[in-house]
Amino acid sequence: MFYDLHIHSCLSPCAENEMTPNNICGMAMIKGLDVIAVTDHNSTRQLPAVAEATAMNGLKFIYGCELESSEEVHLLGYFKSMKQADLLQNWINSKMPDIMNKTDFFGEEEIMNSRDEMIGIEERLLIVSLNASLSECIERIHELDGTAVLAHVMDRKNSVTTQLGFIPMDLPYDGLEVKSETQKEEVLKLHPWINENKTIWLYDSDAHRLTDISEAVHEIDTDTYMKLCGENV
Ligand SMILES: [Zn+2]
Ligand SMILES: [Zn+2]
Repeated sequence: MFYDLHIHSCLSPCAENEMTPNNICGMAMIKGLDVIAVTDHNSTRQLPAVAEATAMNGLKFIYGCELESSEEVHLLGYFKSMKQADLLQNWINSKMPDIMNKTDFFGEEEIMNSRDEMIGIEERLLIVSLNASLSECIERIHELDGTAVLAHVMDRKNSVTTQLGFIPMDLPYDGLEVKSETQKEEVLKLHPWINENKTIWLYDSDAHRLTDISEAVHEIDTDTYMKLCGENV
């Protein structure tokens, strides 16, 4: 199954308004993908609409979110149901500083329904650091039976390597997200303690606009798919 498990919807202020549930599904289908996840910054509020839209289009869907820890590290969480995603949202609400979004400066934060009609606006700014360390974020994801993947680990912005300098040996993450095979090799060379086979490796787009959604290049194996969403293929 071809996948892209790091896509931002129009709820993320930095994503284009064209990133509506149905547009994301349409582009994923044009690209030939089988399974997608939407991972907005510090929010799961777009997931019900995307779950419905993917179901209507025959795509598989995994509930996701991209958290920002107090160290400004980005971390992807994947969940087996909307109930768990809602519980994560409650936790985010208790950890998120109350800063209002400035639409002109950061962009809009639109919540849609599965027909791409706007049903709400997130008033708080989502691109902020939570009052929770990277370890605490991973712990909360695990408490909700979710899977924790360090996002874009070799990027120059908001990655574990830019913020902490390296991937700590005792950090209990489940997976690492890279952009290429070369990056994966680089990660393993820099961190010889990482067990390649016990780590989930994801290659995602981190798309903020439709054309950036991944091509059908990377396939997810059935065990990883099961772990992420709890369902058989
Ligand atoms: Zn990120
Ligand atoms: Zn992202």
